[in-house]
Amino acid sequence: MEVEIGITHCGVCHSDIHLISNDWGVSQYPFIPGHEIIGTVAAVGDGVRLLKVGQRVGLGWESNSCGECEWCTRGLENLCPTMEATCVHRHGGYADRVRANARFVFPIPEALESERAAPLLCGGITVYNPLRSHEVNPSSRVGIVGIGGLGHMAIQFARVFGAEVTAFSTSAAKEEEARALGAHHFVNTRESKAMKEVAGSLDFILSTINADQDWGVYIQTLRPTGTLCFVGVPPSPVAVHAFPLISGVRTITGSPIGSPSRIREMLDVAARHGVKAQIERFPMAKANAAIEKVKKNKVRYRAVLAN
Ligand code: NAP
Ligand code: ZN
Repeated sequence: MEVEIGITHCGVCHSDIHLISNDWGVSQYPFIPGHEIIGTVAAVGDGVRLLKVGQRVGLGWESNSCGECEWCTRGLENLCPTMEATCVHRHGGYADRVRANARFVFPIPEALESERAAPLLCGGITVYNPLRSHEVNPSSRVGIVGIGGLGHMAIQFARVFGAEVTAFSTSAAKEEEARALGAHHFVNTRESKAMKEVAGSLDFILSTINADQDWGVYIQTLRPTGTLCFVGVPPSPVAVHAFPLISGVRTITGSPIGSPSRIREMLDVAARHGVKAQIERFPMAKANAAIEKVKKNKVRYRAVLAN
């Protein structure tokens, strides 16, 4: 059931950078990062019926799962305890070829341009899935924290769901672009006054940042019954007081990528509603330069490597 993909494009997700420096203690060297892949099917194994050689496809973070456990049979393959990640204990997409199980290889809708679609395969689904699962809708007031690779796609998807969107950023220079991407409001998180002004105003906050913060301030930004959802990975434990959770029935949660059926849905939604990554293109051979620029938070908004 394996498919070999000839890679044309691969996004540089911040998870690649965490894996390069073994921040999560799971990296094995030599290590080849890359899990936002677009390419064409180069070969298919026995039993692969739906994908054809030459077809344009995408592959994200997950490249296999057991297919038999409770979570796989419920269609939540992203929660499979033995799921295999595309670049953990196997070589990823900063390369010219990659292999994955056919269940995790997705046809790309024609309307999506390859280089702007590659970041949807990890960053895009990671933000689409919680917005969709938490039923963000036109009555929702949504905050997106961190306007990077994930955050700039989250603004766009939150708008597609009809929400009123507030962008939270440490980079004042991103305000105009955040508004152009669809944010109604912009909060400079380095200004404590601006943070206080939005207290008690949001139903759902999606944090995409990989840094520690005073999370209690974000809890205070939630309305009663609101949710703070982590997709970015701060290095330290998240410490908050229980009282605002109790008094306002507020929730803290997290979310990992999305299932194959959600990925197919997300690609279709992106194609029909014009959601696309804003990218900076680098030749594959310049992967190190792209990584350095991501580390400095200088990329607007996703580096994509091209073969
Ligand atoms: P990215 O492109 O580097 O964006 C991260 C953004 O966080 C930056 O653009 C910046 O936004 C903000 N930021 C950076 N340093 C900060 C600091 N010290 N304080 C406050 N804000 C800071 O990264 P990404 O690719 O979007 O990934 C973000 C995180 O999501 C990473 O931890 C990654 O591993 C994780 N991730 C998780 C999943 C999942 O399944 N849950 C999937 C993919 C990625 P501003 O300039 O706007 O402040
Ligand atoms: Zn990723």
